[in-house]
Amino acid sequence: MDKIIIEARVNELAPRDENPNVPFLPDEIVRDAFACYEAGASIVHYHGRTADGAPEHAPSFYLETNAGIRERCPILVHPTLGYVANDTDAMGRFAAVEEMMKSAATAPDFAPMDCGSVNVDWWNPGAGHYDTTDLVYKNSTATLMHFADRIKHYGLKQYLVSWNVSFTRQIEAFMTMGVIPEPAYICFCLTDGIMLAGHPGTPEGLDAHITFLPKDRQVVWTVVNYKGNLFALTEKIIRAGGHISIGLGDYPYAEFGQPTNADIIARVAEQARALGREPASVEDTRAILAMPQVKIAA
Ligand code: ZN
Repeated sequence: MDKIIIEARVNELAPRDENPNVPFLPDEIVRDAFACYEAGASIVHYHGRTADGAPEHAPSFYLETNAGIRERCPILVHPTLGYVANDTDAMGRFAAVEEMMKSAATAPDFAPMDCGSVNVDWWNPGAGHYDTTDLVYKNSTATLMHFADRIKHYGLKQYLVSWNVSFTRQIEAFMTMGVIPEPAYICFCLTDGIMLAGHPGTPEGLDAHITFLPKDRQVVWTVVNYKGNLFALTEKIIRAGGHISIGLGDYPYAEFGQPTNADIIARVAEQARALGREPASVEDTRAILAMPQVKIAA
């Protein structure tokens, strides 16, 4: 079976109260990216954070972090556009990437497109109520077409996030329109715990996604469990030919004590090898995803 792409999702907007190993600042993210690379990851995904953990959208954060990662190792870089925390217009959301593309030292390899909109309020399962009531993750069709255009312009790879089947249907429509080239790299964002926006992190939740993949298109898929333990599904994903995106950004993995991101990646790599799939190197990942050639801004 094909090699498996393992992506380290190192921080998202996760707090440190359950696991203090969540990296916030550029040097912390660079250190984790390198450790995850050594453990078998070929992609690192991160969010800008301040020293106290708040979201940080300043392009300078991303320039410093990307450059630091590039100096340490060849891992593929996948920064956020800010998720719901960066609720501005399409150009504003892409502004940090435009800055990153001014130098090969700071250019990423992927930029994300979450192909639909969804309520992402924080559910409080213990209390039985919502802790927030107005968080809408908006990605209009026009915004997505702007992202797709800029991502293609710079020779980056579209990282297509599907929170539910309607997102996958929009991805299929975009493939029909030629907005998304093949092979499409689709991330199924399952959600658990305090997040109800995606399919549950169960075999049924994953099967629903797989069932509705476009049948006559080249698609490579990976799986996240945002706010849930993805190890409940990793064997199924590995056996089904999928890829795995995992880390302390999604879940503290307190079941294993206080693991680092690299500990989590090593655990996935070990399981994949035991099931007959070697972790994909950076070059393997470029080939599997038919990554384009990055073009630095003139
Ligand atoms: Zn993210």
